Amino acid sequence: MRQVDHFIVGGAGGTASRKHSIWNPSTGEVQAEVALGDAAVLQRAIDAAKKVQPEWAATNPQKRARVMFEFKRLVEAEKQALAELLASEHGKVVEDAHGDIQRGLEVIEYACGIPQALKGEFTPGAGPGIDVYSMRVPIGIGAGITPFNFPAMIPMWMFGMAIAAGNAFILKPSERDPSVPVRLAELMLQAGAPEGVLQVVQGDKEMVDAILDHPDIAGVSFVGSSDIAHYVYKRGIAAGKRVQAMGGAKNHGIVMPDADLDQVVNDLAGAAFGSAGERCMALPVVVPVGEDTAERLKEKLIPAIHALRVGVSTDKDAHYGPVVTPEHKARVEQWITTAEEEGGEIVIDGRGFTLQGHEKGFFIGPTLIDRVTPQMKSYQEEIFGPVLQIVRAKDFEDALRLPSEHQYGNGVAIFTRNGHAAREFASRVNVGMVGINVPIPVPVAYHSFGGWKRSGFGDTDQYGMEGLRFWTRVKKVTQRWPDGGGDGSNAFIIPTMG
Ligand code: NAD
Repeated sequence: MRQVDHFIVGGAGGTASRKHSIWNPSTGEVQAEVALGDAAVLQRAIDAAKKVQPEWAATNPQKRARVMFEFKRLVEAEKQALAELLASEHGKVVEDAHGDIQRGLEVIEYACGIPQALKGEFTPGAGPGIDVYSMRVPIGIGAGITPFNFPAMIPMWMFGMAIAAGNAFILKPSERDPSVPVRLAELMLQAGAPEGVLQVVQGDKEMVDAILDHPDIAGVSFVGSSDIAHYVYKRGIAAGKRVQAMGGAKNHGIVMPDADLDQVVNDLAGAAFGSAGERCMALPVVVPVGEDTAERLKEKLIPAIHALRVGVSTDKDAHYGPVVTPEHKARVEQWITTAEEEGGEIVIDGRGFTLQGHEKGFFIGPTLIDRVTPQMKSYQEEIFGPVLQIVRAKDFEDALRLPSEHQYGNGVAIFTRNGHAAREFASRVNVGMVGINVPIPVPVAYHSFGGWKRSGFGDTDQYGMEGLRFWTRVKKVTQRWPDGGGDGSNAFIIPTMG
């Protein structure tokens, strides 16, 4: 069986005593095994990172940028193969896997501009003969702990900025789809990053704890579910590190009575069901404002959802593929049952769905649940599956309150033709990323990404200038160059050639 190992200097070495199975969610078969590392594996990676990091930080930023350019070129050249590998472990369709890689590459493109971003600040004449300057220097060794749902994009969000800024980086990807992260690290080496600048350690909680406790790791970036994000945040800062920890989500789409409903339905089909709903920026809750809007929307949603095609990840015509593991399939189906028991109206039921010829795959049919209320557990928690819930709001204020008061605050969208309503909504809603007639408002690479409340612990976002701030610290220099002691003995001498 195919084995996936660590990517650390000197080779993985030894045989891992613990391993984790990697599924092919489309076939329901185990296709590979990944080693689960421990503190000793991490220590070897840290020894290598410590050795190389000063040299990498001293490499001029333009040369570091050239490595990022070359890395981008290599990833692009191999994109199809990477997308197929990613889709085979995750379950998302290959086209979606291309998007996963592309969004990561956009952060790499931003990181190619590192010389400009790192220029720093300078004040001449802050006092008599005194200049003050501030420079951004790398924090040293950074670590990233990433979720299964974007195995290319999220690692690139983190290591793109960290490495360009002059850090060494240790990535701990999800044990469910760890192959693409390893390949990315190989390509970074091929692109010219010295050995040890980007390493991958595989593992689960044991490895995460070793990372959080290690005194030589200066910063940890985490993306995953909220309880674990909170745990990582607390344990990391207790060990004296800087930590940013992005958590789960329950994004709402507010539909005002004047919205273009055909557009909304089209957007929802992709945003609620794309990637089987396994996106932190998915739109699993739709909030029509007013009963009339709710009825009109529902009437259009039902045929659109029935038209969705579920298929294996290589099916070019499929809208979405299987979910990631059998346990996750069972959990999502249980949430649908919970919603039913709580009084939700199951309009379209995706439980018990099987795909002909792929009966063992982890497929769930698209599901629509109406008459969901804020008191229901299935509304309060993240489902992370192809399930769309309708929560009816009586007016704008009622709709604004729902995402604002929800425990998660990652993304939200409003659909309207009314500029005033949109503006009011964007300024008042208590959520980190807002879309106006944009269902998945993931900010472009030169802004930054991050949710609020239980969707994000810590005080910096991913990528953009916020990402750069996280992976650097500021050194402030106050300088004065006296022109001598007044008797001419120490007068300024211009050196001459020869
Ligand atoms: P997860 O929390 O199960 O795993 C994330 C990482 O934590 C993995 O690397 C995993 O190995 C590690 N981990 C798992 N259990 C652990 C434990 N007990 N102690 C320490 N580490 C542990 O998340 P997932 O299922 O891989 O990903 C889906 C979740 O990630 C969803 O909740 C989704 O909303 C969230 N997510 C958030 C964002 C964001 O930017 N806010 C982006 C993508 C995904």
